[in-house]
Amino acid sequence: MEKSADILIVGGGCIGVSIAYHLARRKAGRVVLLERGEFLGQESTGKCAGGIRAQFSTEVNVRLSLASIERFERWEEELGFPLQFRQWGYLFLLTTDELEQSFRRNFELWKRLGMKAEWLTTSDVGKRFPYVNLEGVQGATFHQRDGFGDPNDITQGYAKAARREGAVIETEVTVTGIDLDSTGRRVVGVRTDNGEIAAGSVILATGAWSRTVAALANVDVPIEPFRRQIITTDKFDLIKDPWPMTVDLSTTLYCHRESGGVLIGMSNEEEPPSFNQTFDEEYGEKMLMTAMGRIPLLEHASPRAKWAGLYETTPDHHPIIDKLEPVTGLFICAGFSGHGLMHAPAAGLVTSELVLDGKARSIDISRLRLSRFSDGTELADERNVI
Ligand SMILES: Cc1cc2nc3c(=O)[nH]c(=O)nc-3n(C[C@H](O)[C@H](O)[C@H](O)COP(=O)(O)OP(=O)(O)OC[C@H]3O[C@@H](n4cnc5c(N)ncnc54)[C@H](O)[C@@H]3O)c2cc1C
Repeated sequence: MEKSADILIVGGGCIGVSIAYHLARRKAGRVVLLERGEFLGQESTGKCAGGIRAQFSTEVNVRLSLASIERFERWEEELGFPLQFRQWGYLFLLTTDELEQSFRRNFELWKRLGMKAEWLTTSDVGKRFPYVNLEGVQGATFHQRDGFGDPNDITQGYAKAARREGAVIETEVTVTGIDLDSTGRRVVGVRTDNGEIAAGSVILATGAWSRTVAALANVDVPIEPFRRQIITTDKFDLIKDPWPMTVDLSTTLYCHRESGGVLIGMSNEEEPPSFNQTFDEEYGEKMLMTAMGRIPLLEHASPRAKWAGLYETTPDHHPIIDKLEPVTGLFICAGFSGHGLMHAPAAGLVTSELVLDGKARSIDISRLRLSRFSDGTELADERNVI
């Protein structure tokens, strides 16, 4: 195993590999990434739905999305590897006055930021998306540049490009300690189950496990794990492609085309935080019933696979991208609250800027600082969470 690194990244999900690529392409010295799993992207990244969208309620999330969508659109040109990215849009169905008002405000923000989103009436939805049961639907928003991409293509693309640029990526290595100097205020390396590595800087990209890993350096980061579930079906072609990612925010139901069938997701908001990743059959039944209620044609689809993974959630549903003060040389990029895949390109870019230039230049990420949870600032939560 490597003995030293200029910059060491812990965690090989989509966020860690994106950071490795962005640092390596700037020739940031010896960049080493350690992942405890046998393969990269086996945790939240590999269990996610692949949704990519800009329809968020806060400016920083929209900016992270737009910067990332632009990069997904020219992925192959930039990285030299293919990406399955279908820009079939996201359709948000609005079924309450509160949601409608909140999306009216979102819509103004989106226009200001240059998005070409559409506001649809109930009858527009019926005409364009006849598979939707319109019961309770008061309106909808649609943004064509949204869609879904393959998490494996994204992870492997960044990992291969990072290696090509000189980064070293090691799997099956668990970080068990973070070493500080004698003042306890500067990071000097990490301990692992396979020896020690000296490092000038350490970046935590450890997703749902970030609170535990940051605690190794005596820093608290409020990121909690929440179980989230997905069901996919056998071949299903009763709805014509391209059908967009269809979201019913009031129930958190979302569906999209997946490998010739359908992917159905829904968030159990009663779920307490835990690292439990077993599939809850009872909630799975509720997911299917809700899906058939909103999209009756799904009665003809047969469930094929089901699994659970973890959301890495912060109290305001925004990531934390920051230095982990008071420890110099320690950084974090985690807590995407269920939106990390779609933000991976921008997150890797701004983290590389923070580490190498002392400040993110591409996007203002001051909203994402760790101290927002303790400095008394009142910041709006992200409301469009599914
Ligand atoms: C069911 C579900 C659906 C989702 N749908 C979407 C979606 O549609 N769109 C979207 O953008 N996002 C979605 N997400 C969220 C998305 O998956 C995450 O936000 C994203 O994958 C976070 O990436 P990450 O690299 O931070 O975390 P992870 O992919 O979890 O990677 C963190 C890595 O750190 C490693 N690690 C932890 N501790 C250590 C240690 N001590 N030493 C070494 N390695 C360590 C872990 O093994 C893991 O591989 C979904 C998530 C779930 C569960």
